[in-house]
Formats: sequence, structure tokens, C-alpha cells
Amino acid sequence: MRTLDIASTIGPDLVRLRRELHQVPEVGMDLPLTQRAVLDALDGLDLEVTLGRELSSVVAVLRGRGGSRTGTDRPVVLLRGDMDALPVTEDLDLDYVSRHVGRMHACGHDLHVAGLVGAARILHELRDELEGDVVLMFQPGEEGPGGAEPMIREGLLEAAGRRVDAAYALHVYSSEYAKGVWFGRPGPLMAAADEVRVTIVGEGGHGSQPFRAKDPIPVACEIVVALQTLVTRQFDVFDPVVITVGKFVGGTKDNIIPDEAVFEATVRSLSEEARAEVSAKIERLCTQLAAAHGLTAVVEHLPGYPVTVNDEAEYAFAKDTIVDLFGADRYSHQRDPEMGSEDFSFVGQLVPSAYVNLSACPAADHDSAPDNHSPRADFDDSVVPDGAALLAELALRRTAQLSARAPQAAASSD
Ligand SMILES: [Zn+2]
Repeated sequence: MRTLDIASTIGPDLVRLRRELHQVPEVGMDLPLTQRAVLDALDGLDLEVTLGRELSSVVAVLRGRGGSRTGTDRPVVLLRGDMDALPVTEDLDLDYVSRHVGRMHACGHDLHVAGLVGAARILHELRDELEGDVVLMFQPGEEGPGGAEPMIREGLLEAAGRRVDAAYALHVYSSEYAKGVWFGRPGPLMAAADEVRVTIVGEGGHGSQPFRAKDPIPVACEIVVALQTLVTRQFDVFDPVVITVGKFVGGTKDNIIPDEAVFEATVRSLSEEARAEVSAKIERLCTQLAAAHGLTAVVEHLPGYPVTVNDEAEYAFAKDTIVDLFGADRYSHQRDPEMGSEDFSFVGQLVPSAYVNLSACPAADHDSAPDNHSPRADFDDSVVPDGAALLAELALRRTAQLSARAPQAAASSD
């Protein structure tokens, strides 16, 4: 396969780029060094580049020259690579270790950037055969506060002059699967992650005379426990939700009843139905349990990323492409979704998408290797050319398929 051949030729460049990025990790929405490195790496390719206004994103459109479709009829495929690092101090002994205390590419997004640059180079070389256009999405802020949504607002999905038909993303893992193994599943892949902040409003007083006050602490405690009953008694185990209260604050001293107690929970769900339901039921439980004790609860919902759902057809296509390129023994079906989240889900809500995972675990014992986000998470960048080849192949094949479909308006003219 030519994508693989080109990928292996440019492989050393891609690994070099990844190691450069690894040394200068940047966190959040403003990644000037990373953006500069991407622009330098794409320099010389015939691309239409747009930089983000609100954030340091890069959107590059690569025009294919193959196929007979023209104008608005020409297929468009989107490929995404996230670029941001994490506020973690790296604890690895590498000659390209992070130069910044407190910042590390601990989720492997440096490999994603190198892989997407590789895909751009491969597709550029094969652009005479590319039967559509490709939107390359270099995204900041995946680890929060979320770069995909503002990129969509700034016109990402229409960057080629018409709507994207399909979108693909990949993620590398530092553990769990053997190096080089691709894995994923159709349908829900990652959870929606929302936050809830609850304030139980009572009335402070002396700890010796609770009947003269309205103590918010036992009420808040009761609600925290009742939330777990809510999860197990009111939700289908096959459409699960998770509620974890990770923060609980109330009071200053043993003998003072405070006015308020506050707790914060992360709420995970795997369908938009369960997501809406859990939000409504948390509200009801908190306000009514507080009311039962004569207090009030103020519930603030802070929506996060939606559920990441792999479109069945797009996922089947991506999986077949993986098996075709790398062989069936390099693919593993992932039984369950994970309760982590991903803001590629905002793209997936608007465009049929597939998101696949690739193990970059350098250790033979992948089960006990440090996970993504650990200060010791290590990613073997020898998989970067494979990532580049897959993204390029997905774009080539999908645009060819879309190009071959019956023209929509003139389908039955004879
Ligand atoms: Zn990540």
C-alpha cells in the first residue's frame, strides 16, 4: 500500500517532529509554539491554512485533484489531531523529556500532531488520486476547556467551502494493549462528562444547639449517599451512569454550624437520554431531600463534553481499513466504552464519525504500564507512521467511495 510506503519514508521526520513537540508541551487553548511547529511542518505543501481567532488552532484544507466530481458535489473528509499537553511534571528519563516543569505531553497528543502532519504529507503526494478535499483539524484544548466547539463555531466544518461528509480521529494509549494494536468499538465509545455543583443552604448557629439552627452538613451527607442509590435504583445497568462526588466543603470549626455546605460531582453517561435524565433526577433529589429537612438546595449544572459515539457505518469502514492495512491480528474489539470523555464528540454530533485507538505502549507488560495522564506515561513513537498512514488511507478511500455514489440530484435522469 502506497500510504504505508510513504509513511515509512517520512517516518524519521515525523518522529523528530514528535520529539520536538514533546520537549515544549503547552496546555489549554493557547499553544503558540505548537502552532508554529505545525505551520513549519506543513510549509511547502499546497494547502489553504486558516488560524483560529479565539484559540491557536490550525485548519488546513488539502484539495485533491482526482475524481470527476466538481463543486459542491465533491466529497470532503475531516481528519483531526489534538495538540495540547497536561499540567503534569514528567517523570521519565528520555533524551527528549519535557523542558517545562509542570507540563507534559502525558496523553500522547504530540504523536497525534505528528501523525496528522504525516497524513497531510502522504495525501499531498497522492493528491492526483484524491477524489475530494481533506480538512486537517489541529486542535488545542482537548484536555479542557474544549477546542473543538470554538473551532466548529469558527467554520471548521465548512472550511473546504462545503460541509464535511465524514470525520476521523485517533488516540494513542501508553498501556492496556500491546504496541501497534488498534482498538475501538461502534456506538458509544466515551462518556459525556458533566459537572454538578450543589449548595445546601441552611442557617448557621452554635454546635451545642442544633435545634436553633438549620444544619446543612448532615443534609448534604444524606444527599451524597442518596445519589448512589439514585444511580443503582433508577438507571438501567445497560445504559450506565456514574456520579462521583469529588469535592465536599462545609464549616470551619467543630462547634460552629455553618450556613452552607457545598459539594461537586462529576456525572458520566453513555447516551444523551441518560444524560438528560440523570441531570433532571439529581436536581429533583437534591432539592426535595433538602426541602424534607426544611433547607434548600441550589443545583448548578455545568455541562461538559457530550457522549462520543462512533457512527456504525463509519466505524465499520475504519475497522475494515485497519484490518486491510495492518492485518486482523493488529485489531482488537473493545468490549466496553470508557467513562472518560473527548471533545471530538462535538464533531461527532454533527458529522458521521469514527474514532479509533492505537496502542503505543513501549513495555512488554502492557497491563502494568503507566496509563495516559500519568507522569510516567511513555509512548513509543514508532507507531506514528502507522497513524499517519491510517488517516491518509481513510481520507483516500472514503472520498473515493463518496465520489462513486449516485449523484443526489440527477440520480435517475435516464
Ligand atoms: Zn488525550
